[in-house]
Amino acid sequence: MAIITHETEVLVIGGSAGGMYAALNAHAMGAKVLLISKALLGRGGCSATFGYIGGTHSKEKQIPQVIDLTDNKSFHDKIKYYGHYLADQEFAEKAWSYNETFYHRMEEMGLYIRRTDDGDVVTSGGFGYGPISAKLGTSGKGIMDIFRSQIFRRQIPYLEESSGVTLIRSGERVTGAIVFDYMKGTLHEIHAKSVILACGHVNWLWDRGTATREQAGNGLAMAFHAGAELAGIEQVWWHIADVANPKAWMRSHMYPNPIPMTSEVVEFYNSDGEMFFHGNMFRAAQPSYYLQCKALTRQIKAGKARPDGGYYASFGKIDPYNIREYSTVGRYMEKLGLDPKSDMIECAMTSHQQRGGVAIDHGMATRVEGLFISGSLAADFITGIITVAWEAETAARSAVNHARKVTLFKNGSAIREVERRFSKLLEAAPRNPIGPSAVKEQLRQLMGREMNYFKSGESIERAIEGLREIRNTMLPRMQISSKNLVSNYELLDAVDISDMLDVAELICIASRNRTESRGAFYRSDYPFVDNKNWLKNIHLSGNVSDPTIRLKDVNLKYVRPADERADFLTTEY
Ligand SMILES: Cc1cc2nc3c(=O)[nH]c(=O)nc-3n(C[C@H](O)[C@H](O)[C@H](O)COP(=O)(O)OP(=O)(O)OC[C@H]3O[C@@H](n4cnc5c(N)ncnc54)[C@H](O)[C@@H]3O)c2cc1C
Repeated sequence: MAIITHETEVLVIGGSAGGMYAALNAHAMGAKVLLISKALLGRGGCSATFGYIGGTHSKEKQIPQVIDLTDNKSFHDKIKYYGHYLADQEFAEKAWSYNETFYHRMEEMGLYIRRTDDGDVVTSGGFGYGPISAKLGTSGKGIMDIFRSQIFRRQIPYLEESSGVTLIRSGERVTGAIVFDYMKGTLHEIHAKSVILACGHVNWLWDRGTATREQAGNGLAMAFHAGAELAGIEQVWWHIADVANPKAWMRSHMYPNPIPMTSEVVEFYNSDGEMFFHGNMFRAAQPSYYLQCKALTRQIKAGKARPDGGYYASFGKIDPYNIREYSTVGRYMEKLGLDPKSDMIECAMTSHQQRGGVAIDHGMATRVEGLFISGSLAADFITGIITVAWEAETAARSAVNHARKVTLFKNGSAIREVERRFSKLLEAAPRNPIGPSAVKEQLRQLMGREMNYFKSGESIERAIEGLREIRNTMLPRMQISSKNLVSNYELLDAVDISDMLDVAELICIASRNRTESRGAFYRSDYPFVDNKNWLKNIHLSGNVSDPTIRLKDVNLKYVRPADERADFLTTEY
């Protein structure tokens, strides 16, 4: 395979909000930057699809200031409802300070945010803390287009449709990465003083997920194998609001948040026609994904819905004009010939976002020298675009400062190892061959069956066993049909599978260890929130099959739950 070598100061891997904003910030600080994106810039992962900028706002641009958060209800709600009391509260406090900065900066960069004639930012009716309305509510695409054009304008070098495969280590330091350009079939050996990983969520591990195929866990796997700790990866947000059938439409989100500029919401009905959930039920908890799941669970237990369908989203109480103008769903329904006033859409549960990720300090540094994290890959338990942008700016600052202190180190052994791995994959000629996509599908179905929202010790064990069986019996049979290196998606799939297997197993191991339920994490054999023993994060490091497990107390500087133990299905967090 052709190998192209690069040298840079800051290497950023991940080409959406977290990656592009980190690259822009590092470049603005004068660093030499190289940006890698597995998909087209701003078009993979979840950033382009996100709808709303949440957060507080003011009419005038304000200088970020230290706010006393001791009695700040919005902040406390965020810790409770977003982070389920697992977020480091001093970290969250720092990210919070970005609320005032972010959308003013976005407006300056050209995002059209709706304002009233008096200059106030338009938000969902009546919500002090609520979605801010960009044109049509689909802020993600607008922000991605702005970031992308800024990357082009500033001539920051980038590689698109190129996937980070492994990090280069030199002793205890990360000193670069090997990247596979799967369209051209070339390998890139990139030596860097600092590396920022921004590979996003990993919900492609489940057969129902809001992910794109790039979200295969590469970021978690690369960081873990380089010696970083993963934290809280058992906390996976599911939601109830995606189309049940066909599966290909499952990203068509029947968003339960208020339609921007109104307080009108989608309602969910069970199979008996009874309404059981709507987005105004928990105003402080928007988006209330795990609360939807609890509400649905009660219906399932009563035999009035199923995880994979038998319940319905209704837009009947929303002004059709608002649906058409301020949501993406309106056009979608129109094209299907559905009438939002009378037709309901069958929904099913879907894996959506990780709360945990790679463990970081307040400067977005991992415990491995030279390795920094940006965006939803980080174990922050809060996420959302504003947090992502704060993390990106912070990671860029830390990475540039680190780069200024160290010399470039070039270790050539990683590229030889990747070459050997790729040759082995390409040359494999087993007797009963199967394609990489079949292996991936098996893994995703297994995770969907055993590691969905409804888990127990037994299903977790079955998942671990199933993953090991895939590793032992299916991987040796894997064959790539085309040896042509150009646009070889099968080769990319084959490379992704080992990361997917590793990350899936680590998620199972973390889940096995958390003997309670909390937030997004539900174990039917431990159906209670255990604040006495579990205001802790599970950190994993070392080997995949037998990782070192470290329990870390959460930093509860501002707010802690009132109860010691609570019934999971009725408690609010
Ligand atoms: C469907 C969905 C909707 C959401 N809606 C909202 C919303 O309305 N408002 C909000 O504030 N937040 C929302 N979020 C939360 C979201 O996490 C953040 O807002 C933000 O968009 C995440 O950005 P990111 O860059 O961290 O991740 P992503 O946008 O997922 O980007 C990850 C990037 O990394 C790339 N990548 C992955 N692996 C590799 C590799 N090996 N090598 C190179 N590149 C790689 C991917 O191609 C992608 O470009 C949503 C999340 C999801 C999943």
